[in-house]
Amino acid sequence: MHVEIGEKHPKTLLNKGTGFLVDYSHSLNPYTGCSFGCSYCYVRQMPVSLFRSQQWGTWVDIKKEAAKLLRKELSRAKAKGKVTIFMSSSTDPYQPIEFKEEVTRSLLTVMVEDPPDFLFVQTRSPLVTRDIDLLQKLEDKVRVSMTIETDRDDIRKAFSPVAPPIQARLKALERLKEAGVPTQATIAPLLPSSEAFPDRLVPLVNRVCVDDYFMGDGSGGKRTRSLGISKRYEELGLLEWYHPDAYKIVLERMGQVFSADQIYVSQNGFAP
Ligand code: SF4
Repeated sequence: MHVEIGEKHPKTLLNKGTGFLVDYSHSLNPYTGCSFGCSYCYVRQMPVSLFRSQQWGTWVDIKKEAAKLLRKELSRAKAKGKVTIFMSSSTDPYQPIEFKEEVTRSLLTVMVEDPPDFLFVQTRSPLVTRDIDLLQKLEDKVRVSMTIETDRDDIRKAFSPVAPPIQARLKALERLKEAGVPTQATIAPLLPSSEAFPDRLVPLVNRVCVDDYFMGDGSGGKRTRSLGISKRYEELGLLEWYHPDAYKIVLERMGQVFSADQIYVSQNGFAP
């Protein structure tokens, strides 16, 4: 799919952590828009997407001079108190454009020079491994949360065909682990998965987070409902997985190989 690339010169980069991210002092989005264009992405229903004529997933704006801005904002924020940053809430910091533009890398470079108290990196892209050198320097002040909604790549293709294959994400977790970067596997939004899922994760991570549309879309599942996602489940004959209790199936399976203190549910799994 063609992606329209634009540029913007934002006035601020660090936004106040609110709602689901209330545990964070700030959120940080290196881009506006996301070319992964996942079908269930709740950002589709937010003003950033609704006020654009183009469809979500077909446009990305690059935030120019982001590093310069962050350097200034970060030192100002740190002077006021604890700074905990969630990157990113409404884009993927490692979507394909990052390979060439390196906005996220430039922001990480600033954060290595002047570290926040904590940085949570949320992505579903193996490109994050390119920045292992910087992530290592943040030591225990960083956690990379790799989204792995399911272990079934046929299911991934049905819901987010443009996003990286599951196998590549698992491999990325392996590389991060080898490099000593703190990680978690984030099963969010939880999609239908196989019984073997926990066994595939257990050698790679020591914490998992399970979240679904009903707990995690910021509206009790309403935003997701208005995206018409249930139809996709119906077509796949997997409607039983589109249910507020479906996460318990995965929780129970995870509980067979992970200990209780390694399993996080919804907001807890995203907290600093
Ligand atoms: S990667 Fe994240 S921000 Fe991008 S479309 Fe998918 S869910 Fe939305």
